[in-house]
Amino acid sequence: MERIAKTVLRLVVLIGLTATIGGNLTDRALAGGPIVLTFPLECTLGVNCFVQNYVDHDPGAGYKDFHCGAMTYDGHDGTDFRLPSMDFQRKGIAVLAAASGTVLRVRDGVPDELMTSATKANSAGAECGNGVVIDHGDGWETQYCHMAKGSIIAKPNAKVKRGEPVGLIGLSGATMFPHLHLTVRHNGVVVDPMAPDLASDSCSDKAGSILFDSNWQKFEYQNRIVLNYGFVDGPLIMSDIEQGGLSTRQPKKESDALVAYVRVMGIETGDSQVFAVFGPDGESLSSRKFPAIDRPKAQNMLYIGVKRPNDGWKPGVYSALYTIVNNQQTKMSKWFYLQF
Ligand SMILES: [Zn+2]
Repeated sequence: MERIAKTVLRLVVLIGLTATIGGNLTDRALAGGPIVLTFPLECTLGVNCFVQNYVDHDPGAGYKDFHCGAMTYDGHDGTDFRLPSMDFQRKGIAVLAAASGTVLRVRDGVPDELMTSATKANSAGAECGNGVVIDHGDGWETQYCHMAKGSIIAKPNAKVKRGEPVGLIGLSGATMFPHLHLTVRHNGVVVDPMAPDLASDSCSDKAGSILFDSNWQKFEYQNRIVLNYGFVDGPLIMSDIEQGGLSTRQPKKESDALVAYVRVMGIETGDSQVFAVFGPDGESLSSRKFPAIDRPKAQNMLYIGVKRPNDGWKPGVYSALYTIVNNQQTKMSKWFYLQF
């Protein structure tokens, strides 16, 4: 595992990331102005990585993100960029220095394991897991958490350049899904890189400034995101999706069931979900409407199944349609297919 991680990382370095990323950026928009951050991962937002949680802007026991939504949790002090499943993590996704600077601290050696209530105590005192802290000068610091054991190549006191790999996304410390937690601090105070000008106890759905260089990746607040979807040959649970490998459970001619599943992030109060499966002639095979939810959910998984007919599965293309409706308005829908 460690050797694979390092080999992948070396490849990433060889490809020459540093030659192109942010080459025309200075490290400050203006001398003494806010820092400009490059997207800290070798993946594409909205394609193979997604924001799962933003910084918490509720000073009390509740939680709200900068956009007044619920994509955070109480006390969350960073931005969580997640991968859809461990399948993506196993391929090796590099964590990149968000700006040039000097490495202050490094921790490695924390095992990669999905945290459960039973294993939560293991990460006490090392919640960040394997991590790196970089000092960018003028009081700016970035911290990178939950990296893969044995993958960290950043060295304390070494200089790093903007966009240079420092390690790989892992599953170390207090984490239940593969992601990079990025904390940004200025003079020791947490700054929300998505809303640096907003007070830590306020939120707004109006677009404001961000610290990320948005020429590099498209940063926009997004919820109701379908993270995973597909067909499998029987019932499944959330951790089956997280662990990946579901391509080995594709339905076959002899399968007893055909199960369509989705996992969605950031559904809102009042959202009702409709999920339906159609046969090769467009005939409805199964359909279910799930009641409106009464509070926002960071993640939600649904599946519906169809039993194999006595005369077997009809050949052709099966389809599934997942829809979110709120206040009689369709908020999003997703079609996906299976060819038999
Ligand atoms: Zn986090």
